[in-house]
Amino acid sequence: MTRVFFDNAATTPIHPDVVQVISKSLSDTYGNPSSSHSFGREAKGQLEESRRTIAKLLGAKPSEIFFTSCGTESNNAILRNAINSDKISEIWTTPIEHPSVYQTSNQICKDIPVRFLDLKTNGSVDLDKLEIELSKTSKNVLISVMHANNEVGVLNDLKSIGDLCQKYHALLHSDMVQTMGHLPINFQEIKVDFASASAHKFHGPKGVGFMYIRQPNQIHSLITGGSQERGYRSGTENLASIAGMAKAFELASQNLETDIVYLNKLRTAFMTKLKLSFPTIDFLTKIDESLCTIVSTIFPSDFDSEMLLFQLDMKGVACSGGSACSSGAAKASHVLTHFKLPEACKVVRFSFSKFNTEEEIDFCIEKIKEIANERVQTC
Ligand code: PLP
Repeated sequence: MTRVFFDNAATTPIHPDVVQVISKSLSDTYGNPSSSHSFGREAKGQLEESRRTIAKLLGAKPSEIFFTSCGTESNNAILRNAINSDKISEIWTTPIEHPSVYQTSNQICKDIPVRFLDLKTNGSVDLDKLEIELSKTSKNVLISVMHANNEVGVLNDLKSIGDLCQKYHALLHSDMVQTMGHLPINFQEIKVDFASASAHKFHGPKGVGFMYIRQPNQIHSLITGGSQERGYRSGTENLASIAGMAKAFELASQNLETDIVYLNKLRTAFMTKLKLSFPTIDFLTKIDESLCTIVSTIFPSDFDSEMLLFQLDMKGVACSGGSACSSGAAKASHVLTHFKLPEACKVVRFSFSKFNTEEEIDFCIEKIKEIANERVQTC
């Protein structure tokens, strides 16, 4: 049976070259990077080479990259650090962050004040309002704003937010899990203090990620008991996956501009063809304001909202209802709730990678047509 994978914002297929790097590291470089003998030194060499590769591609120093187990851990480590930091007295974030920021913020608000920023109707941060708030505050603020939203794809202007934060001496964290490896990112230009990334979103392995911490910022380790990662993240490093992540990041960065053009072409074809077949279908995603991989689609009530994802899955189309974390839940996510859509609508996220094709788009649209026709026949 033909199957298409349009759920690349949830995870991406691993690149075959990355599998090779991981496999070689697992079999050949099995020393513990903390050991002082030759096996350990070899492992340490691979670890530091991976760090240098990632740092170089981001315009960062190798000493500003810290390996973690995932994007969720990176976000937790950075946000929870604020509780113990004498440099942060308040957190400002948005109501549509990924749960690893949103729920964490809701938990730590017992220990440190958390405020939710005003958003424009498309879901991006309102820069004028942010500047007014920053100019009025006397607090030491950590702002946590995602680069691209994982459910609707809307992008924040991180360069301008970073400039504002510098002007008003606020710290900036960005959850860049959806944009790392998908957009050109240079930390010489984008003035974030902290950033989070996850390898499985850019054709790398699951269970590995990294934090960027601009010097001279520091954090207290979330996981204690070892001095790995210069004391910022205890625990023996997942070396093979880290080497795989560095390879995946290198590959993702190679033809970035061409890939972005291709993905936008693919998205446009999908949206145009779908709208042509179903004029009542709408999109939460606005093409020129969003990440090239995501199309959040609003299906009207003439589709069976409860069954739509299941029907697509049965016909070989993998996509999700909002994010992967909430796709199994009947309730709309906090992100979709924010957009106040009519209850009868069903929002489906189709998310693409450079490995998807226009033939797959056509296949998907055919399947949606079949679902619509089957519904008409049973009514
Ligand atoms: N942040 C965003 C924006 C995400 O989309 C995700 C995953 O969906 C995460 C964080 C969590 O990343 P991980 O799966 O590596 O924990």
